[in-house]
Order: sequence, then structure tokens, then C-alpha cells
Amino acid sequence: MLDVCLLGCGGMMPLPKRWLTSLLTRYNGSSLLIDCGEGTQIAMKEAGMSSNPIDTICFTHYHGDHIAGLPGLLLGMGNSDRTDPVVMIGPKGLSHVVNSLRVIAQELPFDIIYKEITKEEEEFFEHGYHIRAFRVRHNVTCYGYVIDIPRAGKFDVEAAKSQNIPIVAWNPLQKGQTIEIDGITYTPDMVMGPDRRGIKVTYCTDTRPCESIVKNAKASDIFICEGMYGDKEKFPDAKKKKHMMFTEAAKLARDAEVDELWLTHFSPSLVNGRQYMKEVRSIFPRAHLGKDGKFVELNFIDEE
Ligand SMILES: [Zn+2]
Ligand SMILES: [Zn+2]
Repeated sequence: MLDVCLLGCGGMMPLPKRWLTSLLTRYNGSSLLIDCGEGTQIAMKEAGMSSNPIDTICFTHYHGDHIAGLPGLLLGMGNSDRTDPVVMIGPKGLSHVVNSLRVIAQELPFDIIYKEITKEEEEFFEHGYHIRAFRVRHNVTCYGYVIDIPRAGKFDVEAAKSQNIPIVAWNPLQKGQTIEIDGITYTPDMVMGPDRRGIKVTYCTDTRPCESIVKNAKASDIFICEGMYGDKEKFPDAKKKKHMMFTEAAKLARDAEVDELWLTHFSPSLVNGRQYMKEVRSIFPRAHLGKDGKFVELNFIDEE
């Protein structure tokens, strides 16, 4: 139902065999990209993904390792004859930053619609995605994102019959529409059960641990979180550069009661992340090291 692909898992600079951190999701024919560092286009091709269906691009912040790949990506999308507009979401300054980068990608066959985040938390609805941006703690303004695919409640046939709701109204009501027939108004709440559990993915980098992450990542199916360093000796660096240790990400995953943690945004100095995973899993057992192209298809949980 929702495809999730971690295109890359590196921080600061792309390395051979480690692209910069970026996430691509696919839902109902519409793709969403979060962050676009140098090489994201290639990472996408290596993962067997296409850039053409990307309708929405979200940016966590404007450090080069999260946005330098954008002009090339836009040119690539233009060359593949895309004409539908692309929505971009990011912290204040979005249109200025993107337009500066677009000096080398001015002629595009599609429009760009800018949606700047100005509050601590902000919600957007794009192509069936319910997107929530939440402020985190980096050395520049930075946001994490919750990608939610909501799921409506079940249609109650007995309730529809007992209230004499005409059959022509059933389908619109099921789609959440209010409908009027012969002067009588029918609303979805008359026949729809409570909302069911949807699909929730949280992506969060670059930041120190903070309460807003636990709150927003709560009960995510997948929590993709930065873990810049594994080695304890790097803790002063993590604090100074406003990044996180593997174990700090694990504590957030535990506190947010997520299903799974994927670590990402590794320091170029991190060579063998596996050696730290035993300690990480002692804090949060369902923790995984991110890797380029890590992919999962998430489905709605059948509640029957
Ligand atoms: Zn970064
Ligand atoms: Zn950064």
C-alpha cells in the first residue's frame, strides 16, 4: 500500500556505496521525496525508482547534504516530460533557496508550488498523504516529517438500512462526502465506524533528541532517525554539531513505542555500524541499520 525506500543513509557527503540520506515513498501512483542531497538521482535509479511520479518534495533543512541534488533532479524530471506541478514543502526561505539553485534549471515544463513551514508544527494534505512537519533541534531551522496514510472506518450496512439512507448515497458517504437527496442531508458519520489504524512513517534528521520527536513519532510503523555516530567518544561532536548517537535514537524509538527503527545519516567516519547494534538493540530491540535502497511495502493491518 505504502512503499518506503531509504535511498541513501549517509550524512555530510556522498561516499562510494553510501548515498546521502533521502527517503522516497510511493502511494496510489504518487511519489513523495524527503531531502535531496547530491547523487539522489543516481540513488533513485539504483533502487529501481523513477523520479517522474514525484509530486511532493519535502526538505528537512537547507544544509547542502539535504538539497544539493535538487537542480539535477528537476532537470531529470523535466527531461522525462513531466508537466504536472510539483509541491515543495520546507522551512522558511524555501522559494529563495530553490530559486537560487534553479539558476541552472530555469526552463522546466512543470510548475513548482512552494509551501513554507512557519510554525512549530504544520500539516499538509497532498495526493492522499497526510504530512505533518514538526520542528526539531539542529544548528539551523530543521523539521522532521510524519507521513500518514489515514484509513477511514468501516461502512455499516445495517446502520444505513435502519436509517433508510438511499443506496445511491452509500458510495459518496463511504468516500467521506456529505450528500443531500430530496431535501435530506446525509453525513458520513451516520454510517461510518471510527477511523481505523492507518500507516505511519516518521523521518527525522538532523537533530539532537527532543520531546517533539517522541510525540510526533508515536506508534509509527517505521521511525527513520538519524544516528550520526555509534562510537561513544564521538558524543561531544554529536552535541556540538547538533546530531545524535545511535543509542539516543534507540531511546527515542523506545519512548515513542514505534514498531521499527531504521538508523540513517551516518557520519563519513562511521565504517562498521554493526558493532554498535548490540547496545542499540538492548535499548530498542527492533532497531536496524539503514542501508542504501532499504525497502519495505507497508499494508493496512487487517483488523478483522
Ligand atoms: Zn545532514
Ligand atoms: Zn544539517
